[in-house]
Amino acid sequence: ALAGTTMLFGALVGCSSERSGDSGDSGSDTPLIGIAMPTKSLERWNNDGAHLEGLLEDKGYDTTLQYANNKVDEQITQLQNMINEGADVLVIASIDGTALGPVLETAAAQDIPVIAYDRLINDSENVDYYATFDNELVGTLQGQFIEEQLDLASGAGPFNLEPFAGSPDDNNARFFFKGAWDVLSPYVESGQLVVPSGKAPASIDEWTTIGIQGWESAKAQSEMENRLNSFYTDKKVDVVLSPNDSLALGIEQALDGAGYTEADWPLITGQDADEANVKNMIAGMQSMTVWKDTRTLGDQVATMVGQIIDEEEVTVNDETTYDNGVKVVPAFLLPPEVVVPDTIESLLVDSEFYSADQLGL
Ligand code: BGC
Repeated sequence: ALAGTTMLFGALVGCSSERSGDSGDSGSDTPLIGIAMPTKSLERWNNDGAHLEGLLEDKGYDTTLQYANNKVDEQITQLQNMINEGADVLVIASIDGTALGPVLETAAAQDIPVIAYDRLINDSENVDYYATFDNELVGTLQGQFIEEQLDLASGAGPFNLEPFAGSPDDNNARFFFKGAWDVLSPYVESGQLVVPSGKAPASIDEWTTIGIQGWESAKAQSEMENRLNSFYTDKKVDVVLSPNDSLALGIEQALDGAGYTEADWPLITGQDADEANVKNMIAGMQSMTVWKDTRTLGDQVATMVGQIIDEEEVTVNDETTYDNGVKVVPAFLLPPEVVVPDTIESLLVDSEFYSADQLGL
């Protein structure tokens, strides 16, 4: 039960609230920060939510952290509840970046600033800031990894490539694909990379044709199984462009099921350094992951929230890239980093992103 839901809608900003965590003296001064996350089913969002919530609580704020099961309607209801509860700032990792316009109108009517977290919110005036990793660079790093590993720049090939893209409703997914495809498509044109399934978008704008809805591992697995069954009866996959780890996991399962072994296992890219994938990297089933230290994203967002609450200028470092269709949203971009099996220890363990124990090292 949410304290404050009985209060009149629209009459909440600055008025007293019974939510827990208020110190009791004035009862109304503790800022409330609403954090809306997409789903618990992906490891990264659990870490993101818990970390950000901890930082904001350390700053002395109240928080309400909600996960929406990857359901757009659920996320909208959660945001509406946060507004009703008197949230002072909303931090939103959207599910569908184009579906939040109306609820953000309500937030704006009550002067509640909105920070888009990791994923841009599109088609709305009412997005104040965006904090994320450099999404196009994530894809560039995946493309360059493939380019280097296969020695494409010196003319090697042909290699059989199967490209995948992320969820069509996720604004990031286009950036990931664009970054990778800008590097790889010249080699598709030169014939050094061949796509036996034909699932190579003719242009970046057609990336959704190979997008996996909801970033679901199971859907990536069945798509990979279909491609293997239909196009690989007499050949082998050499390389898979997977935009993230949840897709890579499904693709790896399909390859395993089709009888691929260490001897013919293809190169596979990923993103997020999810625990299961890092373990697969140790086992030789995934070649790399693009690590986004989500702790640094949480730190950045906590700083932004603090600046908003203290009415200070909010720090951004990019004011040109993220046009949401209505405005260019001032953004803070963090650097992603490549992890390969040899650098798991130095990057992921030494930084305490994982313990050696956790990874079985
Ligand atoms: C995030 C990725 C994540 C994907 C699936 C993207 O918006 O940037 O880190 O793998 O969503 O949750």
